[in-house]
Amino acid sequence: MSPANAAPRILMRRLREIMANAGAPQKRLDAIVSQIALIMVAEVCSLYLRRPDGSLELFASEGLNPEAVHNTHLARGEGLVGLIAEQAELVNIHEAQDHPSFSYRPETGEEIYHSFLGMPILRGGRTLGVVTVQNKARKVYSEEEIEALETTAMLVAELITSGELDEGVGAIADRTQGRHFKGTSIGAGIALGAVVLHEPRVMIHDFLSDDQAFEQERLLQGVDTLRLSIDAMLSKAELQRAGEHREVLEAYRLFAHDQGWVTKLKQAIASGLTAEAAVERVQNDMRARMLPNKDAFWAERMNDLEDLGNRLMRILVGSSATAAETSLPDDTILVARTMGAAELLDYDQKKLRGLVLEDSGASSHVAIVARALGIAAVGEAKGLVNRVDTGDDIIVDGVTGEVFVRPRPEMIDAYSDKVRFQAAKQKQFQELRDKPAISLDGVPISLKINAGLLVDLPHMVQSGADGIGLYRTELQFMISAKFPRITEQEETYSAVLDAAGERPVMFRTLDVGGDKILPYMRMAGEQNPALGWRAVRMTLDRPGLLRTQVRALLKASAGRDLRLMLPMVTELSELKQAKDLIQKERDFLKKHGRPGPKHLEIGIMIEVPAIIWQLEDILPLVDFISIGSNDLLQFLFAADRTNPLVAQRYDSLSYVFLSVLQNIITKANSYKVPVTLCGEIAGNPLESMALLGLGLRSISMSPAAIGPIKSMILSLNVAHLSQFLEHQLATSSGSLRPELERYAAENNINVDPYSDPS
Ligand code: PEP
Ligand code: MG
Repeated sequence: MSPANAAPRILMRRLREIMANAGAPQKRLDAIVSQIALIMVAEVCSLYLRRPDGSLELFASEGLNPEAVHNTHLARGEGLVGLIAEQAELVNIHEAQDHPSFSYRPETGEEIYHSFLGMPILRGGRTLGVVTVQNKARKVYSEEEIEALETTAMLVAELITSGELDEGVGAIADRTQGRHFKGTSIGAGIALGAVVLHEPRVMIHDFLSDDQAFEQERLLQGVDTLRLSIDAMLSKAELQRAGEHREVLEAYRLFAHDQGWVTKLKQAIASGLTAEAAVERVQNDMRARMLPNKDAFWAERMNDLEDLGNRLMRILVGSSATAAETSLPDDTILVARTMGAAELLDYDQKKLRGLVLEDSGASSHVAIVARALGIAAVGEAKGLVNRVDTGDDIIVDGVTGEVFVRPRPEMIDAYSDKVRFQAAKQKQFQELRDKPAISLDGVPISLKINAGLLVDLPHMVQSGADGIGLYRTELQFMISAKFPRITEQEETYSAVLDAAGERPVMFRTLDVGGDKILPYMRMAGEQNPALGWRAVRMTLDRPGLLRTQVRALLKASAGRDLRLMLPMVTELSELKQAKDLIQKERDFLKKHGRPGPKHLEIGIMIEVPAIIWQLEDILPLVDFISIGSNDLLQFLFAADRTNPLVAQRYDSLSYVFLSVLQNIITKANSYKVPVTLCGEIAGNPLESMALLGLGLRSISMSPAAIGPIKSMILSLNVAHLSQFLEHQLATSSGSLRPELERYAAENNINVDPYSDPS
């Protein structure tokens, strides 16, 4: 044993004896503080524990006035001790009274002490208290002293969380402190439930060990396993080049090979800790030293290291790597720093109510999957993971992007009401499921869903939709690590057709580029990606890509109907080129004796204004058209749909846009070409009411909108609305929204699906 390790080992042995002694809890705390004072040659050692109201109570002290014990209470954030508890960071100073947070408590008699070292007592993401040492002499405490106090803090944390203290001194563990986080919405919906940490945190029970060699060996084996597991995750095909998630894994790998980290762990074991306790102490140490590094970059690195430590601890105690394999509560809210899309799909979807992520934004792949699963989801909730624990109550508001951890009862009540109300409404909509969408004046409307992943398919039946009006094939490409092979594509399309049965499915060919990025595909940086090399422009330039996809679609639909839809067609020539390519693929299959679809329809999306002036040429060549209002609005008004500063600026119910739609619908009707609309506006009751007034009889939307839209249709007289709209378009300008709102109100049309709580 090196001399530097002698003191910690003595401390460890003493603390072990104290812990093993089943004396009264207060006696044990008293013994701990006096041992520390003795070994650290400090005049004072004090222990403050956090009460459920957030205040800190002096629980034991060697050196301070004994009368002050249990009588000194510091309000939340008060004094140096309050600061340490709030920030969960250590303070090491040679003149406590010069510190701006110093607060003088005459009852303690501490004014004669100058040097001060305070350490937070941390457990499971919470501060349970603070342990301090003080000296009269002005000094800065050494590394060894800091480590000794860290170990003490860890042992006291164990004593508290084991519940042993509660008996003698009352409830201490602070499980009531609520937290509020503001992130970004990634999946609308509200959920109340219980936190399940995607990567479970380990609670250590064996802290001290005499067999150093054994613990060192365990550590090295654990580190090896950790490194191998990270390499395995990185090389897993589905994660290759998978954006944010992969970057985090790369950072883990870097740290896992960091010798400094491993050396610190070895030193901690040498001081008498078990391998897992060594990991926890090094983690606490790093967390406690974060104070000088407040900037975001270091906070991120700290998170990486923290995650890595948790992984290592799980390996050392043999607990499962992710919570997917554990039994989940019925109202699981999954919390993770980051997660791959495929990992989310590993969870039992019947139990999943919500998802909160620290690192992923709305456009990440895992967000796409969360939306497909229809769960409430929030991203960019910075700092959350370290402040929650499995089992904590949590509210996820996917509408506002807010997250409430350990919410107060009033908050739970308010949100429970919201959720109950939504559920009641959903039930009402559910009851409409098998009712045909026929207006009051007998006009049948076809309602279809937009989909793009296999997890979407059950929604088609659950919502009572007539089919899939838009199948975004690019989503499979976006959540994969590399281009899906032709066989994988074929399997997916076949599964979609199986699920749809007799219902029609409009498969849209690959629409990537713009805001839809394939991480594994090299794309030149573009100044205006939305106007750039995307959708059919790209697939015509890379015909191999389109041919593979078309072949997979033709094969998957052997003996059945196939409907193909081309995105972003801007010129007649593009349609012709694509049709040629499709025909070549049909001929190829025929030549090889492979059965093709029973019936093939080809249509285009109306998304680029230029195509509207070519409809006379286009319509005779297509079997249907589908208006992509998301892009059409973006291009018509030159307003980036992903930029919130302009995305909402131009009204979809403006005279301009409605006239454009009217023009398209009239032309399509005159050529007897079916026309539908599959942009987001179809899911808004007021907008979709207007669409029906303009003559559309088929619309496609997110599955959750089917019920509200059907309920609107059941209260609508389409012919009456058409007349009204015709008149409005002939006489008004600007936005027709106020007129349409008034019309809906005067005619009792149900355009506000969540308005009536009954
Ligand atoms: C649209 O542009 O309206 C559309 C449905 O396509 P996407 O949202 O996938 O671009
Ligand atoms: Mg589009």
